[in-house]
Amino acid sequence: MKKTLIAVALLLTSAWAMAQTQVIAHRGFWNTEGSAQNSIRALVKADSIQAYGSEFDVWMAADGQLVVNHDPSYKGHKIQTSPSIRLTSLQLANGETLPTLSAYLNKAQELNTRLILELKVHNKPEEESEAIQKILKMVDELGLNERMEYISFSLHAVKEFIKNAPKNTPVYYLRGELSPKELKEIGCTGPDYHYKVFKKNPEWIKECHELGMKVNAWTVNKEEDMKWLIDRNADFITTNEPILLQKLLKE
Ligand code: MG
Repeated sequence: MKKTLIAVALLLTSAWAMAQTQVIAHRGFWNTEGSAQNSIRALVKADSIQAYGSEFDVWMAADGQLVVNHDPSYKGHKIQTSPSIRLTSLQLANGETLPTLSAYLNKAQELNTRLILELKVHNKPEEESEAIQKILKMVDELGLNERMEYISFSLHAVKEFIKNAPKNTPVYYLRGELSPKELKEIGCTGPDYHYKVFKKNPEWIKECHELGMKVNAWTVNKEEDMKWLIDRNADFITTNEPILLQKLLKE
């Protein structure tokens, strides 16, 4: 009986380790007609190609409202020191206006793709803590807890998400300097690092799996880099080229 259990456990472990790499659309699926980075359309497009997840970037504006944008400023307006009403009047490349997080997540309710929320590094850690409280409250009210994954370059934000998000919510760290063991110690789901960090430390992917963690790599747009990660069983690849990655995964 014991031997059978061990055999089953080994089989499950290897099946898990061999699970296919999943596709995350970086800033949504924007590299396509009618879309734009971090637009609601890019979220809908990522969902339409059945991407595992759609990544997007979140800032807190001067009035405490949460908005979706990548850079610290947009069209000359600094996000953290501008009122959200001004920011959300600005047009994206596809004609949409810059979305609030609320509008973005409301649309997500109609979709299935997972929501990979990156909290940007703010001027002060207290601002990140405040943003996190607001994000978690909003997500909870919209019933989206099960579909969320949180990522950040801020170690403070990562620790706050781990502490405050519902148990078992995936939280990944982006910066790249912490080893798998160090990430495990803080309770991280795993690294979400630039792919060159894994190329420099190729043993880290295996080490993460042995520690029961998952591995994501950004932003992987070239076929050869995608293949390198797929061959090493990276759990997720974040890319601007989700169609190319899906094609490679089918081969
Ligand atoms: Mg991002």
